[in-house]
Amino acid sequence: MGRASARLFLIHHPTGIPVAEYFLADIHLSAERPGITAAFRATLAALAHDAAAVYILGDLFDYYLGDDLTTPLQQDTAAALTALPCPVYYQHGNRDFLLGDAYARAAQMTLLPERHRLVLGGKTVLLEHGDLLCTDDHGYQRLRRILRSRRLQRLYYRLPARWRLAIAEKLRGQSRERTRHKTPRITDTNPAAIRDALHGQQADILIHGHTHRPAVHPLPGGKTVYVLGDWHPHGQILRHDHGTFTLLDSAGLLPP
Ligand code: MN
Repeated sequence: MGRASARLFLIHHPTGIPVAEYFLADIHLSAERPGITAAFRATLAALAHDAAAVYILGDLFDYYLGDDLTTPLQQDTAAALTALPCPVYYQHGNRDFLLGDAYARAAQMTLLPERHRLVLGGKTVLLEHGDLLCTDDHGYQRLRRILRSRRLQRLYYRLPARWRLAIAEKLRGQSRERTRHKTPRITDTNPAAIRDALHGQQADILIHGHTHRPAVHPLPGGKTVYVLGDWHPHGQILRHDHGTFTLLDSAGLLPP
């Protein structure tokens, strides 16, 4: 598994002190887009200098067939993640929700629940991929409930590999097609769902991805929503350092 890529990351903590938490989402790694893979690897190497923790909020991969059918790219990515000198946390996205315990172990990532709360700089922070917040997209929410059913997933794992690939490609195609025909409002997060999530978890800050619409939204009551962007080849990521959150372009972390 990707020894060359692991070697690339042996430049650990030259400054010594890990100080920052980093939040990434929607990298959508796939063999068809090597530029994104290169940008992601370079970003991991840059984060290694001062990261106390890295949080990947879903859709690390553009598709994921199961822990028993990982691609060479996915195996190399696991090796690259293990080379990070800090804990790595991961939440499922709508594209890679089949990523399981075996992969998490190989990548030394901790799997987080679909909604996860932590305290940073005295603020309560809620993390989630973001698809649950798109409550106006009734078709997607229905499909999501079906695809996350344990019973259906058991049937899926019994199918031959080429059928599983065909199913994944069909779902990807349908998702692209449906998104094209929906209005931007339908595929965006619902303001009431955001308020409910923040209120329900007593959180000050919500960090999510999924919509590919990077932004900082200040809300009443001093609450803030940070939306992470997707990668092409770099992406918007969020950095936290001693109570200060900054949404920045991952390219900005690289040495000139
Ligand atoms: Mn997504």
